[in-house]
Amino acid sequence: MKKINEIFYSLQGEGYHTGVPSVFIRFSGCNLKCSFCDTDHSDGVMMNEREIAAEVNKYPAEWIILTGGEPSLWIDYPFITFLKAATGKKIAIETNGSNPLPNGIDWVTVSPKFGVEGGGDYELRVSHINELKVVDIGQSLDGYFNLPGVDSSTRFYLQPCYVEDPSICSKNRGRTIERVLGNPRWTLSVQTHRFLDIP
Ligand code: SF4
Repeated sequence: MKKINEIFYSLQGEGYHTGVPSVFIRFSGCNLKCSFCDTDHSDGVMMNEREIAAEVNKYPAEWIILTGGEPSLWIDYPFITFLKAATGKKIAIETNGSNPLPNGIDWVTVSPKFGVEGGGDYELRVSHINELKVVDIGQSLDGYFNLPGVDSSTRFYLQPCYVEDPSICSKNRGRTIERVLGNPRWTLSVQTHRFLDIP
């Protein structure tokens, strides 16, 4: 059984797969407490694998996105194998990278939270990163290209830090745009779901 906060169908709002129709499985709970966390993931209902797959199969998307909270707290290789066989879909994950991941995941997005207030100090424990998505809080960007799991195929996204205050949000966007322009190995990640008004 796994504690599921919600399962919903939408477009991926940010990063490499922006705009791709996807079924999101949001797991409940996280091992970090980032100060800027904007996801209410604490509630949830216990679901077994078959119930999860049946809910996912209501939607025609090619991709499933495991998110949270921190999805790595809930998954293992048998679950990934079952979900792929039961749905015929590809599986992506959005993780803070603090736990090893099972084989069989088709796209790994790591959003490291070390250095963030509440994110603590941890080593990345994933073996391969397709996409590194960093929330820009003004930190040094020097170390990210040498993280464990990064290789020549890894894509680097820098994302403005979203806050409720529109003037701070605007300043954050401006800073991130300037940093990407000055460091072109990075690409700007825009949270398109915020202005499209989709989940
Ligand atoms: S890792 Fe993500 S879900 Fe967990 S507390 Fe930080 S921002 Fe929130």
